[in-house]
Amino acid sequence: MLTAAGVRDWLRRFATAVDEHAAELTDLDRPIGDSDHGVNLQRGMHAVLAALDAAEPATPGAALVKAGSTLVSTVGGASGPLFGTLLRRAGKALGDAESADGPALAGALRAGLDAVVALGGAQVGDATLVDALTPAVEALEAGGSAQEAADAAARGAASTDELVARKGRASYLGERGIGHRDPGAASIALLFAALIEDAS
Ligand code: ADP
Ligand code: MG
Repeated sequence: MLTAAGVRDWLRRFATAVDEHAAELTDLDRPIGDSDHGVNLQRGMHAVLAALDAAEPATPGAALVKAGSTLVSTVGGASGPLFGTLLRRAGKALGDAESADGPALAGALRAGLDAVVALGGAQVGDATLVDALTPAVEALEAGGSAQEAADAAARGAASTDELVARKGRASYLGERGIGHRDPGAASIALLFAALIEDAS
């Protein structure tokens, strides 16, 4: 069961992971982007933690909406609106329920994924964060544990190594992007790894 406090703990663990991996995420964004992905997410997640501490949302839905809105307004890069839309739409899907069980969380993250696809236009195979997010959501929808979703996200992120990017800055490189992991997919894997202790 995910409560408002559970969402805060989840996002705090994600923020810690982003801090720990910021240099690595930025390095992934160097050859195929503009070297700012780690810094972008780090700035955004620090703002999210401050906003959650200030607002103390009462439900998991409100906490996710607050987190998503904060990311949209504080991160300039493509990842801000995309991560922000994922969390905000998932939060809206949870409504004002006191807690979310596994199926509710899976449904909410599906709504978030659909909104990310509608916003960015990327499909699985385009070497974006959608390649990590889609299998993670599918794992939860199939009744899998948070650990299984995290493993699916990590495999999805790894799958971008051999793909030609068709969306975002990396798409400017065409075939030269092959051999590079998509930074946004790598950070989605961190987001689901951070879910582990609370969900399902
Ligand atoms: P920017 O590309 O503006 O510098 P970031 O470096 O923070 O932003 O984020 C880049 C990540 O955003 C990419 O690794 C990719 O996963 C994701 N991304 C970019 N464009 C799209 C899109 N249209 N759809 C889905 N994900 C995208
Ligand atoms: Mg970038």
